[in-house]
Amino acid sequence: MSDRLSERRDVVRSLPAYKQGAAEGADAVKLSSNENPYPPLPSVVSEIAAQMSDPLSGFNRYPSMGAEPLRAAIAARHGVTPEQVAVGAGSVEVASQLIHAVAGAGDEVIFAWRSFEAYPILTVVSGATPVPVPLTADLHHDLDAMAAAITDRTRLILLCTPNNPTGTTLGAEEVERFLARVPENVVVAIDEAYVHFNRDPHAVSGVEMVARHPNVIALQTFSKAYGLAGLRIGFGIGSVDLCDDLRRVAVPFAVSGVAQRAALASLEHEDELTERVERIVAERGRVTEELRGQGWSVGDSQANFVWLATGDDTARIDGVLREEHVFARCWQGEGIRLSIGSPAENDRGLAALAKAVKGAPVPAV
Ligand SMILES: *Cc1c(COP(=O)(O)O)cnc(C)c1O
Repeated sequence: MSDRLSERRDVVRSLPAYKQGAAEGADAVKLSSNENPYPPLPSVVSEIAAQMSDPLSGFNRYPSMGAEPLRAAIAARHGVTPEQVAVGAGSVEVASQLIHAVAGAGDEVIFAWRSFEAYPILTVVSGATPVPVPLTADLHHDLDAMAAAITDRTRLILLCTPNNPTGTTLGAEEVERFLARVPENVVVAIDEAYVHFNRDPHAVSGVEMVARHPNVIALQTFSKAYGLAGLRIGFGIGSVDLCDDLRRVAVPFAVSGVAQRAALASLEHEDELTERVERIVAERGRVTEELRGQGWSVGDSQANFVWLATGDDTARIDGVLREEHVFARCWQGEGIRLSIGSPAENDRGLAALAKAVKGAPVPAV
């Protein structure tokens, strides 16, 4: 093996593995992946069935690469042109396209940490250098520190709001002030995978920022609020130039025809989906209050999960949850991210955590 090849493979082998939320057992409650607890709408399921028997777009055919009808519908929904929409196999793939399009060897990509675990992986894969900037003590993005981290090698800044896994949001005004400090030749991605769950009236809208700032791209997904995580479809909204570049670097045919069709049907039935989102938001409020009542330190989350600051007690609590067949996403030494499921699933989660809290009182942060 040549030295360059073995160096490259060393880089690949040193990547942190993306950890998928787990769940095992017949009575398992999976609150580890921020999935929507509700199955797709009947109208979406019938679109998926229709796709199978369509002679021109059945599974024996390649899907449309342009995804024109879907991009037109997304554009109409958000008041932009279809050329300003780029699609991908989940918004993770759109983020991957973006990083490949703008950053390579020697370039830097800034993001808050802890945040979405795909960011450092995608950055290293593209050959660029991750620049993680610690969250503030109250688990918000530290925008001053992120602005101070910009160098002449910075190509991209990723903002995650609501932030995965802490649920904290960025305000419109603070993002405006931040963007004023970012050079125009640095791209800022606002990852709003959980935007539909956000009830903070002062929160930033990534899509609105795109209209005023040509270097901003908003990333959204059909995986969370729309409940299509398994079909893999997400999109970016940005300038025509940037979205053209994303299309150039995209893996051909990564977005299936069935995903495009299901996403289109979901947009057509958005009010039915909104009703489900409202149920999840209401459950988030109930779960937060009950957990605080049990004595846990839980922040205000604007996403479909809550963050328990469990610190050094995390491993023990995770053990109790697993005994109860409740699966959350745990970061040893930091905290636990508990997704909001159906009311019955949330009750199981709350009951398991009630058992865990008896073991040792958790200090408030
Ligand atoms: C879930 C999530 C996504 C979207 O994932 P896809 O399923 O690939 O669309 C993107 N960003 C964050 C922060 C997420 O948590």
